[in-house]
Amino acid sequence: MDSRGRVKPRILFVEDEDSISEPFTRSLEKAGFEPVNARTSASALELFERLTPDFVLLDLGLPDGDGRDVCVEIRRRSDVPILMLTASGTETDRVVGLELGADDYVVKPFSAREVISRIRAILRRSSRTGPDPAAEPIRVNDLVVDIPGRTATVAGSELKLSRKEFDLLAELARNSGTVVTREDLMADVWDVNWFGSTKTLDVHIRALRKKLGDSATESRYIQTVRGVGFRLAPQERNDSKP
Ligand code: CA
Repeated sequence: MDSRGRVKPRILFVEDEDSISEPFTRSLEKAGFEPVNARTSASALELFERLTPDFVLLDLGLPDGDGRDVCVEIRRRSDVPILMLTASGTETDRVVGLELGADDYVVKPFSAREVISRIRAILRRSSRTGPDPAAEPIRVNDLVVDIPGRTATVAGSELKLSRKEFDLLAELARNSGTVVTREDLMADVWDVNWFGSTKTLDVHIRALRKKLGDSATESRYIQTVRGVGFRLAPQERNDSKP
């Protein structure tokens, strides 16, 4: 859950080419985001004001102007994370984009997978430096994860977790309700650029499930998203109760 209390982060996706925005919007939805599309600079700013998105995905070549101006204007109003999309990959463009206040920069053609993993990484970084959402314990069914205190309890009894098991659980808990890819988990928990076998991750997930009393087939907590990664069940929301 983000600082606005949304279960799904809302992404303002500014892109005028349907051949990019249509399939990519579906990928964002599948990945657990709530995409909102804008095709022009003017509608981007209007929707930004009205919908207060949690993230902005910004194409630079827009029919009524330059995405860089949109970036500057959004940055004047907010410190929302911005990921720029551009057809040009020159170093100058990259530097200019970042100087205008974008958080990161992706060159077309990009894969949905690549962009989604960048979005997640940026959202994780910004939630860590934001108004300390980690201070509140994260509750999922009987599980309570206290990230600053580094404790986790199930139905009130504390779990004995190794350092890596706790890190893994914390990373899933920070993103509860959304899938965290295997690559992101490896990069965040093991802090390396990790390619190839993810046996280490599977071993830790198995150990964690065992301690949670969870099973891969009937999971209450950690769900496997085949070929993608893992998802911790969504947090309890007080406002969803009747
Ligand atoms: Ca364009």
